[in-house]
Amino acid sequence: MCVESVPPPSSRVTRRGVLAGAAALAGTAAALSAAPRAAAAPARGAQHAGDLVVEGGTLLDPATGDVTEDAVVVIRGGVVRAAGARARTEVPDGAPRLDAHGRWVLPGLVDAHIHLNTATEARDAVRKGATSARSGSTNFYQDIAVRELARQAPEQAPRLRAAGIFVTPDLGDTVLADPDLTPLARLKDGVRSAEALRRVVQVNLARGADVIKTRVNERAGLPEQDPLAQVYSHEQLSEVVAAARRDGKGVLCHSYSERGCDDAVRAGIRSLEHGVFVAERTLHDMRRRGTYFTPTLTAIAGLVDAPDPVLAERGRTYLPVLKEAVRMAYELGVPLAAGTDSSGGEVEPIGREVELMRAAGLPALDAIRAATTWAARLLGLERTAGRLARGFAGDVIVVGGDPLADVSVLRKPLRVVRAGLPL
Ligand SMILES: [Zn+2]
Repeated sequence: MCVESVPPPSSRVTRRGVLAGAAALAGTAAALSAAPRAAAAPARGAQHAGDLVVEGGTLLDPATGDVTEDAVVVIRGGVVRAAGARARTEVPDGAPRLDAHGRWVLPGLVDAHIHLNTATEARDAVRKGATSARSGSTNFYQDIAVRELARQAPEQAPRLRAAGIFVTPDLGDTVLADPDLTPLARLKDGVRSAEALRRVVQVNLARGADVIKTRVNERAGLPEQDPLAQVYSHEQLSEVVAAARRDGKGVLCHSYSERGCDDAVRAGIRSLEHGVFVAERTLHDMRRRGTYFTPTLTAIAGLVDAPDPVLAERGRTYLPVLKEAVRMAYELGVPLAAGTDSSGGEVEPIGREVELMRAAGLPALDAIRAATTWAARLLGLERTAGRLARGFAGDVIVVGGDPLADVSVLRKPLRVVRAGLPL
């Protein structure tokens, strides 16, 4: 590591931007509430927004594996009030209905690694079945706003755990994401010192990040980079983890090489992302620590079809190695979470990741759990997402066939309901 010629910036992070934003928002809220009712009320009809009865379908509960035919799911105010067999469930009169006869009904899926830089991508993710998600970082804190968009207009965005910006040596244009990051532009060696690493984490936390995203290796998706080259050491990752933990936050770490995966896990990360060359001993360690594995098989499988020959070859080499790592992780009892790593342009359906986990050797129900109950636990949403039971979010997908017989039906949900709002 080079010695920095410029002293690192003070670790004090101002709340200036946050406070200004809050004041502006308060002004907007006042203006909105002063507006005439008809203009402020959504055309959908306020008193029925978020009320829905999904009826007649076959309901799968990923938590128990229970299958209920001719089920009803009663959603009121965006929350499940009852779910189960029609004969034993009280259905309110007059509530809007969604007919699911001949279909299967599941909780909305969770994408535990996705980059949502635009409102279009956020909407696309929901339509493809990801009603909850964890951000893998965005360039300019868009994910913080997407999280709020999901509260204001749930049908337009997944319920989101935001990561803010990537903790990486070279911030590039992201140095403009917040004025408090700009002093880092003076560092000749980039974000590498303990102080600089803490600074980026602290700016993220001040902006309201729920999790911190960092890396140990270079990228697989760029032909000029070597994904086995390590960019942060175990000590640097430990700094990032410690800075996040001071605020009670976990770290997700982009990792490829055997050594990199091991350094990241020993640093105390919450989840290992990609993890293609993770060693068996590291998987044992993950099992012991409860570290999650988010393999993003979708992203690695996507390399196979890349027009660039270097990336295509990388994909062909990496995919079988990663599938074997997933199979071994599953057998050892490492918690798994489904994530597409969709980034820019087309959002990949989270059902595709379930399909690839199934192909890697998971039984269908456990592959579905990786995108429901297990991923929900990773996001701290185990009482909100991943099931359709009383008190859980009214997020539903309706699919065309039995997902336990063929998980590929999850790739194209026929209907998606978000917080009781049918899309
Ligand atoms: Zn990513």
